[in-house]
Amino acid sequence: LARNPGEDEFHQAVIEVFESLGPVLDKHPEFLDAAVLERLCEPERQIIFRVPWMDDAGQVRINRGFRVEFNSALGPFKGGLRFHPSVYLGIVKFLGFEQIFKNALTGMPIGGGKGGSDFDPRGKSDAEVMRFCQSFMTELYRHIGEYTDVPAGDIGVGGREIGYLFGQYKRITNRFESGVLTGKGMSWGGSLVRPEATGYGTVLFTEEMLKTRGLSMDGQRVVVSGSGNVAIYAIAKARQLGANVVSCSDSAGYVVDEQGLDLDLLQQIKEVERGRLSDYAARRGSSVSYVEGGSVWDVPAAVALPCATQNELDGDAAGRLLNNGVLAVAEGANMPCTSGAVALFQDAGILFGPGKAANAGGVATSALEMQQNASRDSWSFEHTEARLTEIMVGIHDRCAETAETYGAPGNYVVGANIGGFVKVADAMLAQGLI
Ligand code: NDP
Repeated sequence: LARNPGEDEFHQAVIEVFESLGPVLDKHPEFLDAAVLERLCEPERQIIFRVPWMDDAGQVRINRGFRVEFNSALGPFKGGLRFHPSVYLGIVKFLGFEQIFKNALTGMPIGGGKGGSDFDPRGKSDAEVMRFCQSFMTELYRHIGEYTDVPAGDIGVGGREIGYLFGQYKRITNRFESGVLTGKGMSWGGSLVRPEATGYGTVLFTEEMLKTRGLSMDGQRVVVSGSGNVAIYAIAKARQLGANVVSCSDSAGYVVDEQGLDLDLLQQIKEVERGRLSDYAARRGSSVSYVEGGSVWDVPAAVALPCATQNELDGDAAGRLLNNGVLAVAEGANMPCTSGAVALFQDAGILFGPGKAANAGGVATSALEMQQNASRDSWSFEHTEARLTEIMVGIHDRCAETAETYGAPGNYVVGANIGGFVKVADAMLAQGLI
């Protein structure tokens, strides 16, 4: 911790993983002898760079860009780019660290990395976002590549931003290298199901957890936080499986729609108009309430899916969810639950799916996009979704079996951390002192 002062989220992510590893280190002292833990905490490479760009008023603006290439034991570095004013090295490192184990759990040949900028796309024109993305890529391009490092989207980086980034990469390198970025548009190398994959995957994982208790999503009352990419497709899949999703949020407030959220209207406002949830409430009419500020976790639900951002669900919120009878919580976002919240869920014996496992469907489908690019092929929606489902069921079962093997049946945190760690640690040992 002393080597990385002030990086609170990174410390939190490392502690959360290392707390699970006792039993595996007792069984495999060779990991300690080879200093695998110390090596895992030190990224293979970190790049921090200036991103100058010009706004529509002709004023020069400066942001900071990051790419942390954490671990390539299993494949090229892989992980998203986040554009949000809160981004600093500690956030990028926590996300990159998590990504190592998540990617290992998918069973796909991908290492872990993450990047982004403190640039805030909110309120910027398309032209400003394009100029920013072009400037960002003008530095990033020299560090990435199909066999080196393959970025994708995250908070604030969706199809529009990936398009501008890809266009600039192509222009600088004079190569149509599809496999250098994932989350691309469908007509230029993207994969069907990639936009849906993280949210769909989170709900598929939740369904598998519920099955272990003889339950299913069908008929459950569900609350989701966020209303971005992950949240929208978690809502969509939950509805497909028969659940009633009554609430979602953005950083300004949340809506409660007892008849079930109107997904078409939500997508129109969030994906097309880039509007706010307050607009949804205004257009949906009197059956809906909009609560400015406050916590979406006050809304009673059987299934809670945090899909917004880190540390958005703390011990107090967990207590309220438990008092209201929550049965299952699955993290669509990365580290949305504080360690206090996770401890309360586990003590109460409810089902808890950690992000490393529950939201791995997005990166897994990115790896499927890389496969399609490598073979210059594109698969149907049905085929790709079937692969995603198979992968999520596989991740669930691997976590459950690993937890059982290491004496913590039903503990998906232990299962995900140990399952991911062993795979990466074995590969690091096999590849020598790297
Ligand atoms: P989006 O930018 O599409 O949406 C983010 C949503 O979360 C928005 O509704 C946003 O509200 C809300 N939000 C963001 N920051 C805050 C905050 N500080 N407080 C309250 N609300 C906030 O991002 P994604 O849906 O892509 O990502 C959401 C989470 O899922 C992140 O943790 C990300 O790392 C994780 N994830 C994403 C994957 C993907 O494939 N996209 C893959 C795996 C994990 P507002 O619009 O008001 O800011």
